[in-house]
Amino acid sequence: MLHFPVFLDLQGRVALVLGTGEVAERKAALLRQAGAEIRFAERFAPALLEGCAIAIGADAAEPELQALAAACRARGLPVNVVDRPALCTALMPAIIDRAPMTIAVSSGGAAPVLARQVRQRIEAAVPLGLGRVAAMAERFKAAVRRRLPDLAARRRFLDAALAGPAADLAMAGREAEADAAFAAALDGAETRPPGLVHLVGAGPGAGDLLTLRALRLLGEADVIVHDRLGTEEVLELARRDAERIFVGKARANHCMKQEEINALLIRLAREGKRVVRLKGGDPLIFGRGGEEAEALAAAGIACEVVPGVTAALACAAGAGIPLTHREAARAVTFVTGHRRDGGVDVSGLVRPGQTLAIYMGIAMLPAIRDGLVADGLDPATPAAVIERGGTARQRVLRGTLAEIAAAAPGWVEGGPALLLIGAAVGRGADRGGAALAA
Ligand code: SAH
Repeated sequence: MLHFPVFLDLQGRVALVLGTGEVAERKAALLRQAGAEIRFAERFAPALLEGCAIAIGADAAEPELQALAAACRARGLPVNVVDRPALCTALMPAIIDRAPMTIAVSSGGAAPVLARQVRQRIEAAVPLGLGRVAAMAERFKAAVRRRLPDLAARRRFLDAALAGPAADLAMAGREAEADAAFAAALDGAETRPPGLVHLVGAGPGAGDLLTLRALRLLGEADVIVHDRLGTEEVLELARRDAERIFVGKARANHCMKQEEINALLIRLAREGKRVVRLKGGDPLIFGRGGEEAEALAAAGIACEVVPGVTAALACAAGAGIPLTHREAARAVTFVTGHRRDGGVDVSGLVRPGQTLAIYMGIAMLPAIRDGLVADGLDPATPAAVIERGGTARQRVLRGTLAEIAAAAPGWVEGGPALLLIGAAVGRGADRGGAALAA
């Protein structure tokens, strides 16, 4: 994070505006909206900072601005000099005002125009009446705390109530009816709601390949139980104060046993928490989501699955490789290259017109090649390995099965990697990456 955002309470406090002119006036008007009293000056003198909460420099002579910035810095007083990032200790964000709700956007000085564009989008997306909803929530704050002392229950109630009919009424400015609806909802609120676990697919690790539903659930979760590293970008999108529990599973490096993970999910759900069990890719594809769902069902806990973009789809898209192709493949098989006992089983996989997407196969690649070739697959069949597919750090290696089997184990950098084999794999528009021989 480049700058730490905070909101200043300027009610009845003095803000110094150094300079005169249109820009200075605009800044002063904003500060006034936040309740500040403006002290205007054209020339800087240290005494002007007496009792000030913030200082703004605009349209003043250069030495005056320099002096202002230096004096503020020395006093630890936030100062903003318009268009002079080097002189600032505080940045003026683009503001979306829905008092008492305030949204501020900053590009850290890198591209104020971009911040303004984001602001416009937020302006359009955040209803004008939202401030009235926030005000309603504030009126009921104490009552909600009294009725729902349990934090998880309170959050769940507020999440529903602030998106329900009371909120709609408040938004429309029908305050009395809104309050009545809110009070009725509060009366009927569950004080200890039953637990619910969402098994959520995180996709390949890129934040923008999440589903909207996954994004919403991450924003509402009380606790997120996650495993594979590589989901940091996705976790960034989760509610800031959601508890995060890492139960890391990398191949042959189990941090927590599956039974312990199941028990943890059950315990968290019984505490009434909103639990997101975040899994790489899709939860039901080589993710043991099925086992976790069974354990939850056996414990009587509701469980919902949210699909995610599985590695085969992310890798194929990222590398521009068609998984099916009218002339080359009419079926695609998702298969693991890693048997429970550590061996390899490729029997029955060699069929014409098929693409193989092999998960967890890199370590076993030579054995996989031998098995497939023994079953009649041509070693010259096109193949590719995609590492960290679908993320900004994606790498692609193309070649024939024989070439890939020889080269890939030394080529991978330790990220998750998928193997694609089949005639269709040779069809893809090459989107870069390394090619082995021609
Ligand atoms: N549930 C996951 C798969 C978990 S098994 C999913 O649906 O994608 C773990 C294996 O998935 C890894 O060994 C690797 O083969 C593959 N994998 C996961 N993420 C990947 C990625 N971003 N790029 C390439 N392969 C990936």
